[in-house]
Amino acid sequence: MKTKIAALLLLFSILSNAQFVKNHGQLKVIGTQLSDQNNEPISLRGVSLGWHNWWPRFYNKETVKWIHQDFKANVIRAAIGVDADENCYLKNPSESKAKLDAVVQAAIKESIYVIIDWHSHKTYTKEAVAFFTEVSKKYGKYPNVIYEIFNEPEHQTWEEVKSYSQDVIKAIRANDSDNIILVGNPSWDQDIHLVAENPLKDFDNIMYTMHFYAATHEKWLRDRVDYAMQKGIPVFVSESAGTQASGDETINYAAWQEYVDWMESKKISWVTWSISDKDETCSMLFPTASSKGKWKAQDLKDSGKKTKAYLNLLNNQNH
Ligand code: MG
Repeated sequence: MKTKIAALLLLFSILSNAQFVKNHGQLKVIGTQLSDQNNEPISLRGVSLGWHNWWPRFYNKETVKWIHQDFKANVIRAAIGVDADENCYLKNPSESKAKLDAVVQAAIKESIYVIIDWHSHKTYTKEAVAFFTEVSKKYGKYPNVIYEIFNEPEHQTWEEVKSYSQDVIKAIRANDSDNIILVGNPSWDQDIHLVAENPLKDFDNIMYTMHFYAATHEKWLRDRVDYAMQKGIPVFVSESAGTQASGDETINYAAWQEYVDWMESKKISWVTWSISDKDETCSMLFPTASSKGKWKAQDLKDSGKKTKAYLNLLNNQNH
């Protein structure tokens, strides 16, 4: 009997996992909480693909399917590199948009959420307005889509980032009245306390990003988020890892666990960086990993194994 119940529970978990966006639908922000179409709190947990210009080989439907079905991610982030080299969006927009489209269409098919990430450290207001006008027109009707309008501002002030964000958000809202928009902040998304003093006004369904690398960032960064949330700021961790901020050196598992426990206690959604095979600790794959999923244990680095373990545990509990 117990086996039958366990089998039924497993089946239920698999079926609901297969229908994630169908079940949760159009997302919204209620207070500081990401919520689903039934106004229930929801936590998205998943992974980011690496920069599309350097790891285009993972921007395909087979990889998205594997990340959903094996890793159990319910969100995937497409990191559209803006200006790093000749394969980036500004130099090669048509190929960049084709890579993005492959991931968005696959996420829709898999019924998971997808973040369209303008992966830049510099401010390109005109280009970002044009890009987000186009993608919001194309994808705004899909509840799956989340817009991340500025990956990591570096040395810009919050006032500069805020002004940029107002322009880009207006462009998105002209085509898409409701999908979630993620807004960056200075110092690689660590200055969220500055947002709390002077947030955007007059827009709905806006969240602010925080990025952590657990071996570098200690409790002070969580304290900043706690402070911001107390002041009503909705927070989404759109990039994170257990490594140093360089993305390299050793994983600090204890510090990573502290971050995960804290995010879970606050129902903060999180995404881990990254699906790529770069020679660095936070890249989850070895170069042996196929471009089309079906990765074996030996294709996963420790960061990939740990991320998969977190997602398998936490996303299955919550479906
Ligand atoms: Mg919409």
